[in-house]
Parts: sequence; C-alpha cells; structure tokens
Amino acid sequence: MIEFISYTLIVAVCAYVAIPLFSKKEKAADHQELDMFHQQRLIRETIRDLEFDFQTGKLSREDYETLIAEREQAIQKADSVIGKTVGMKTAELLNKLEAEIQEAKEKLNPSIELVCPQCGHEHKKGDKFCSKCGAKL
Ligand SMILES: [Zn+2]
Repeated sequence: MIEFISYTLIVAVCAYVAIPLFSKKEKAADHQELDMFHQQRLIRETIRDLEFDFQTGKLSREDYETLIAEREQAIQKADSVIGKTVGMKTAELLNKLEAEIQEAKEKLNPSIELVCPQCGHEHKKGDKFCSKCGAKL
C-alpha cells in the first residue's frame, strides 16, 4: 500500500515537473507580453485616478508626485519586458528567414554551398579546403 502511494506520488511529481516543459516557450512569452500590456493599462488607469484625486484635492501634491513616479517606473519596467520578448521574436524571425534563403539557394543549386574565397571554385558542403588552390574554406 505504501509502495503504491509513493509510486503515485512520484508519478504526480514527474507530471507536475514535465508538463510545463511541453508547453511552448513562445506561448509563455506571448502570455507574459500580454500580461505586461494588461498591467500597463491598469497602471495607467490608476494614474488617471490619481490625477483626478489630486485635482479634486483628495491627494496632496507630495503624495501625488510620489505615487505617479512609482507607477511610471512600473510602466517602464513592463516596457523593458515587452521589448525583450519582441526582440526574441525578431531573432526567431531572422533565423527563419535565413533558413528560407538557404533552402531557396539549395533548390537552385543543391550540391554547391561553398565558394572558395581565393579562387572562386565551388565546393560541396563539408569541404574544409579548396581542391583547386588549397585555401581554407
Ligand atoms: Zn580555391
């Protein structure tokens, strides 16, 4: 019985650890980005509330300025997170485009991937030295 319980427990722990690994990283980044946009919107709403409170005399200038500064910092922080995730996507896109260019090149000329920098002789993928002039490829 104890063996059965500990076995179940191990399976449960493994599943708990493994499931997040299967969900796509990209999805997580999207979610984070969405979260940040949402957070920024909420923060901007509170700034509007603070402005209203200040204008109607519910808040002292000192408190108002401190609270606004705090919120602006939070918005900037969220911005940097958004920038990071967008940057990551740009890198992914560039990799994809590069792969597509490579694929298109291979379609045109399947066996030739390298051109000797010295003499321009064409070589197959994996060649380390030029067979014509001996230059390193
Ligand atoms: Zn060569």
